[in-house]
Amino acid sequence: MMANTPIYLDNQATTPLAPEVFDVMVPWLRDNFGNPHSSHILGRKAAAIVDLARDQVAGLLPKDGTVLFTGTATEALNTGFGAVHAAKAKGRNKIIILESEHAAVRDTAMSYAKRGFMVERHAVGPDGIVSLEQLRASIDDKTALVAAMLVNNEIGVIQPVEEIAELAHQNGALMLCDVVQGYGRIAIPGNIDIAAISAHKIYGPKGIGALWVRGGIDLPPLIYGGGQEEGIRSGTLSPALCAGFGQAAALCKKRWDSDAAHIAALADKARSCFADWTVNGSIAHRYPGNLNIRRDGLDVARLMSDVRNVAFSAGSACASGSGSPSHVLAALGLEPARIKASIRLGFGRYNSLKDIEIAAKYINEAVEVQLA
Ligand code: PLP
Repeated sequence: MMANTPIYLDNQATTPLAPEVFDVMVPWLRDNFGNPHSSHILGRKAAAIVDLARDQVAGLLPKDGTVLFTGTATEALNTGFGAVHAAKAKGRNKIIILESEHAAVRDTAMSYAKRGFMVERHAVGPDGIVSLEQLRASIDDKTALVAAMLVNNEIGVIQPVEEIAELAHQNGALMLCDVVQGYGRIAIPGNIDIAAISAHKIYGPKGIGALWVRGGIDLPPLIYGGGQEEGIRSGTLSPALCAGFGQAAALCKKRWDSDAAHIAALADKARSCFADWTVNGSIAHRYPGNLNIRRDGLDVARLMSDVRNVAFSAGSACASGSGSPSHVLAALGLEPARIKASIRLGFGRYNSLKDIEIAAKYINEAVEVQLA
């Protein structure tokens, strides 16, 4: 780490670029400027790296679908929701999402409430996990789409996505899954229909995401133009971003076991360093690289200004700029004072055990001063 760079414990907001990813991207920024959609030699060279990247990204997703590159996961989710139009033509006008979804799903779903759809935001339990029994009662033959995320970005809990997809399919509905925080880290359930991912969450570059869609699903374009990405997402692709995304995915695959063991060791260390804190969300069903914890009476805004040499988050990075309390922590039934007393620590590949120890020392010391 450079001098004055804080210890980075915000790996759910974004991840540092892997050095191997940077190396793969450079020639596509500096030397190979061809448009991957041109038919001459420079274009074909660029198209070949895009094809390789698509295969590398697909390598961590179910087999029977297509990867379409987008600018972000948010764009991929917005595009994926378009599947509801074909369902509506068959009399299905209900969309079910979980209350704890990321804004990219939640706000997209809510936009359909203004377009003739009934949108149900299904509750999660105090542990952040949906009850399959309650969900079964909600999904019916009017349901077009069920959306449930794999790993929650704020609290790290893992939803029973495979079982939710089964319930959706039993009723003829589609299953959309925001796998942004799970992709490259845990297995993606094989029975989902639509998924969205983002390169910058897996040590890849910002500015590229992907939509994965199972064969046979009818999706209208969100962006019209030159007909790239099977006509669903027009616009010239960036070979550098695609190459970086592909390499990041390939690295996750190659380092699957070692990354998982490293994150588990960091999580163990963190749980012991923050033993006086209460964990928000399920302990049994969570991705260990996310620790969302609280101390009663704490003012996290003050804590963050006191502890400048650790980069961590108060609630979700996406929501924290808005000043509004986290809707995910509220969905667990936490009262506002407890929401304001919660922090999110996110560990990644490039953190060391020492990072956790030092960060915990800074944070715990500031907390003791504040609560004294
Ligand atoms: N979904 C989840 C769970 C996320 O954590 C994020 C990013 O914070 C997104 C969607 C949006 O991803 P992107 O930044 O690529 O639009």
